[in-house]
Parts: sequence; C-alpha cells; structure tokens
Amino acid sequence: MKIICIGRNYRDHAAELNNPVPSNPLVFMKPPTALLVNNKPFYYPEFSKNIHYEGELVLKICKNGRHVQPEFARGYYDQIAFGIDFTARDLQQKCKEKGHPWEIAKGFDNSAPLSKFINIGDRNVANISFKTVLNGNTVQKGNTKDLIFDFNFLICYVSQYFKLQQGDMIFTGTPAGVGPVQIGDVLEGFIEGEKLLECEIK
Ligand code: MG
Repeated sequence: MKIICIGRNYRDHAAELNNPVPSNPLVFMKPPTALLVNNKPFYYPEFSKNIHYEGELVLKICKNGRHVQPEFARGYYDQIAFGIDFTARDLQQKCKEKGHPWEIAKGFDNSAPLSKFINIGDRNVANISFKTVLNGNTVQKGNTKDLIFDFNFLICYVSQYFKLQQGDMIFTGTPAGVGPVQIGDVLEGFIEGEKLLECEIK
C-alpha cells in the first residue's frame, strides 16, 4: 500500500505559502508508517518546533491500473476520507532551501491522521465540501470545485509513474488556512458537514 500526496492543489493555499501555481501536479509520498487511524492522538515530535496541519480529502484506490485514460479514471476510486497531512514546516523550509527531498518533513511517523472511509456513491466528485476545525474554530474550508487538478486528472497523471494498486491512497491537497498546532489542541475534520476525524495533539 502506498500513500501518494499532492501538493499545492488549491490556488489559495499555494498563494498563502508564496508558492507558484504548478503546471503539473506536485507529487510526493508518505510511507505506511505515517498513518494514524482510529482517532488516536498525535504526539508532537521532538525534531520540530513548527508542525502545521493540512486538512485534505483522501481517495482510496479500488482497482489496479497503469496509464489510466481519462474516460476510465472515475472507476479507480470509490471511497473518500478526511486526512491531515502534518508537515514539519521548519524542516520542510530547510529541505526546500537546500533542494533536498522533503520526506523527513512530510512522511515522519504518524504524520497522516486518517478518518474512516465513506462511499462516494453518486456524489458529484467535482463538488464535495470539507473543513478543518481547530479547537472549535473553522480554519480551513475547501471544495473540490476549487481543485487545480481534479480527482480524475490525478488518477491519470499519477498512474503514468506509479502503478495504482487496490488500497492505495491519494491525499489530494489542502486549501488555504494551514497553520501550526500546539500541545493540547484538538483538530476535527468534516466532509459535507459530517464529522469524520478527531485528533488531539499531545
Ligand atoms: Mg498537503
């Protein structure tokens, strides 16, 4: 199982970190050991002083495929979840300055809290709303209509390079409003108003 992540996939988020809007999806991965499930708490790691939350919609791949063509892309994912792409922003900044890969800033243990998956069913995948709530305040509001690269495009793009396998996940990017967490904070994630994730920072 692999966890594929997309960076800078909402214009407003790219702008808030002074990053250009990419012409192709920005792809990176987290290892399976990054997953944190069942609403377990997140323990603030010692190696960072600036952990940011990034609330994201996560697709689950339901079929194996390579070089998926656009007309078939929708058949490769059937469930969606709310995930957090925790990022050690201080380490990431150093990696970026040196032109180094940023895995240690993005793929560390438990850096990917993940809710249960729900069936997409006949929802319009181009109009799914989600939000991140920090200590009771909504800090991120997203809608898939604002994606730079939509779900089907991501399936086609990613499958050119990596064979998609049943059970793989794609973190599809975060909207504006990312920010730091502190010990004692509680993050919640909602899809279409339904609370799916809760994560306490310890
Ligand atoms: Mg992200």
